[in-house]
Amino acid sequence: MKKTFREKMIVKFTQLAKKNELLRYPCLTALSVILGGYHICRHFVTNTKRYASVAFVIIFFMNSCSFSFAVFAERTGFIKAQETYSAIVEDIDISLAVETEIDPEPRIEIEDETDLEYNPKSGATGVDVYTLDDILGSDESYQSENTQEEGISEELAEDYVFVSTDWRLVLINKQHPIPEDYEFKLGKIKDGLLCDERIIDDLLLMMQAAKNDGLNIAIQSPYRTSDRQESNFNKRIKLYMGQGMSYMDAYKKASQVITVPGCSEHEIGLALDITSDTFQPLIQEFADTEEGKWLAEHSYEYGFILRYPSGKEYITSIEYEPWHFRYVGREAAKVMYEEGICLEEFWDKYL
Ligand SMILES: [Zn+2]
Repeated sequence: MKKTFREKMIVKFTQLAKKNELLRYPCLTALSVILGGYHICRHFVTNTKRYASVAFVIIFFMNSCSFSFAVFAERTGFIKAQETYSAIVEDIDISLAVETEIDPEPRIEIEDETDLEYNPKSGATGVDVYTLDDILGSDESYQSENTQEEGISEELAEDYVFVSTDWRLVLINKQHPIPEDYEFKLGKIKDGLLCDERIIDDLLLMMQAAKNDGLNIAIQSPYRTSDRQESNFNKRIKLYMGQGMSYMDAYKKASQVITVPGCSEHEIGLALDITSDTFQPLIQEFADTEEGKWLAEHSYEYGFILRYPSGKEYITSIEYEPWHFRYVGREAAKVMYEEGICLEEFWDKYL
């Protein structure tokens, strides 16, 4: 019996494929192409199933394209890279998904300050900002119950000895995260405005002194929960990634602007961001305002230091923040102010 063209081809390619294992797939592909082509030609010639043939050619062409692309992508590692990238992006999205309700800190993006309108309950940046009037009620002035502590610091006694166990001097930075057993009690400044209760007296005295000099300094973001610190941090990473940075670069840059969660003094209630009733963005220009200058000059008298000074970035690893003040107690603050040293340098020298 005479074999058809189709049968001949199948026999030929099956033999070839059997002889050589490696040729199995190329043989099968070649066979389908030859048989496909043969059928199409035949149908065209006999004028039957012409539309079916055209459809077959189109589908075959599309399949080949996607197959070639898949092979190309596999070879070049394109798919792998894309999968890794999607996984990273997805990961980040998941960790950031819950943050939208909380408004943290990326106030540096605010470019047009003229739009800022002060609202004592919710500052221009959407974060609660409080002046002394907001805390005490207007026409009230703060009197310390501890009369000895009132006024500016006394001369530092010559025999004053600093000790490393003093809670006021605890060193928190990227290298020194908050110790697991660190304990403190939160006190209420006003409403949800909390900080270590032991610093409230000096804080209000400082605000009162500024007010006596005609300046309304305003506090924001004192105690922050670790969750909030983390949310601030992640939001900043997302912002930088949105600007085209890789995750690692964004992390590095974020850690220069916001302290890494678990390493922030805000989380132990000893730090506050301080601005004024007329200027709330946390930007370096705050240093040029009257309130910024007053704080830089007088905060030490009440036990506060400008924690991340200009020129000490290589030690603190944090950019100059003229609004971030840390309580260290009057004695240490006076030493740091007079010697122009930051907390890390103070530890090296005195503890
Ligand atoms: Zn701060």
